[in-house]
Parts: sequence; structure tokens; C-alpha cells
Amino acid sequence: MAEALLRAEHLCKRFGGLAAVSEVTLDLHQGHIHAVIGPNGAGKSTLTNLLSGDLPPTSGRVQLAGQDVTGWSPEKISRAGLGRSYQKTNIFLPFTVWENVRLAAQSRRQHAGRWLHRANGFADTNERAERALELADLAGRRNAVAATISHGEQRQLEIAMTLATGPRVLLLDEPLAGMGSVEAERMVQLLRRLKSEHAMMLVEHDMDAVFALADQLTVMVNGEVIASGTPAQIRADAGVRAAYLGE
Ligand code: ADP
Ligand code: MG
Repeated sequence: MAEALLRAEHLCKRFGGLAAVSEVTLDLHQGHIHAVIGPNGAGKSTLTNLLSGDLPPTSGRVQLAGQDVTGWSPEKISRAGLGRSYQKTNIFLPFTVWENVRLAAQSRRQHAGRWLHRANGFADTNERAERALELADLAGRRNAVAATISHGEQRQLEIAMTLATGPRVLLLDEPLAGMGSVEAERMVQLLRRLKSEHAMMLVEHDMDAVFALADQLTVMVNGEVIASGTPAQIRADAGVRAAYLGE
């Protein structure tokens, strides 16, 4: 397999006496979805925060496209090509779908250096926003006010806003949370479309979606990786079935 776009090595995060993430090592590859599953409190969101720079690790390293980004700010890591969604929404509810995506695209342009290619920057920003809208299947909803769209569409909008920053690596924390089956299926299709152009980490509780999408799974319990492998390997793992799938 080609070199990983993102590599976490022996990541640890302690909150006082609690080891929220212990010795987690994982790779994300272009064109692959790496799902991270585990019960509540397993450390999945903390791991996401360590990879995105939202939290500094207690120890361990993060490499993005071969570069050591450990300790970098979230803004700098974002500029280096990592996009993430949050469990809590970042949407500006009074603004339209298009305005939200345009703002997300623009935030990247400002970071990227405002004096550089100023004229081109505008077209690039619009183009990136437009493409993100289309990828997220929201082109038909561009003029809708974000507060008025459905819960599922708001989750799509969050993905569109993440895509608008032009990431190569995508970290998605429970994109299907709170969705009904129709919305969930739509999101699964969306994530499948994003797969070829990104390296993706998918934290998700919906096991149907996880097994429909993932090329690789990592199972966390109490901050530790208890198993990692292909969906078939994880399905067959007696320890996983006992610890997590409740069998
Ligand atoms: P998951 O996303 O798998 O449900 P989290 O990463 O949110 O798990 O949490 C892992 C553990 O770390 C939990 O016990 C949680 O209470 C704890 N935790 C998470 N964030 C903090 C924090 N900022 N301060 C203290 N403890 C935290
Ligand atoms: Mg979480």
C-alpha cells in the first residue's frame, strides 16, 4: 500500500488520572475509509481531537503527508490538508446553505495568505465552495436558510463546509448521529462518493453504515485499541464480539 496520508504513532492522552487514549497507532490511506468504533467513553472523539490538533497529545506523534504535525495548531493542520467535522455543529443557522459553504471555503483562503494570487483566490474559493456543495448533494438547497433545512441536510452541510477547505484527509465524528434510516442511507452514499479522493477516518456507532463503508476498522475500549483489521476480521474477532458487539 502507498504511504499513509496520516499516521498516528503511540498516541496517548491523559486527563488527570484518566487515560482517555492509550498507545493508539493507526494509518489513513487515500481512497480508504478507516472506521473507529467503540462504546461511549472509548476515546474516539479524543483521538479525533489529537489528530486535528484540537488537543495536544500527552505523548506520541502525528504525521500528515510525511510531515510531523504533532503540536501544531488546528488552523495550521487544516492548512496542511486535514478537514474534520464536529459532533456539535459549526453551522451559522441564520445564513443560507451557500453562504455557510462559501464562508468555510473563504476561511481557508484567508489562512492561505491573502496577498498571494488575490484575483485567482476569489475564483478558487467560489469553485471550491461550488464543488463542495455538489459533492455533499446540496446544490439544490443552496438558497435555503440553514435553520430551515432538515437535520440530515444540516449534517450534509457540515460535510460540505469541511470539504470547502479542500482537505485530503477527512475526520468525521459520528456523521450519522440522530439520523433516520433514509437520511443515514443518503449519508452513506455521500461518504462513498468522497472516498476515492480522500483518506477518511469515520467514527460511527451505526454498524450497518460502518460495515457498508469501512475498508479497515479499529476497535477502541477504554482508550485502548483492542482490535484492528478488515471488516471480516473484526466480525470474526471473539474479543470484539464479547467486549463491544455484546455477544
Ligand atoms: P468517545 O468519543 O469514544 O465516546 P471521548 O473521547 O469523548 O469518548 O471520551 C473518552 C474519555 O475521556 C471519557 O471518559 C471522557 O469522559 C473523558 N474526557 C473526554 N474529554 C475530556 C476532557 N476534556 N477532560 C476530562 N476528561 C475528558
Ligand atoms: Mg465521541
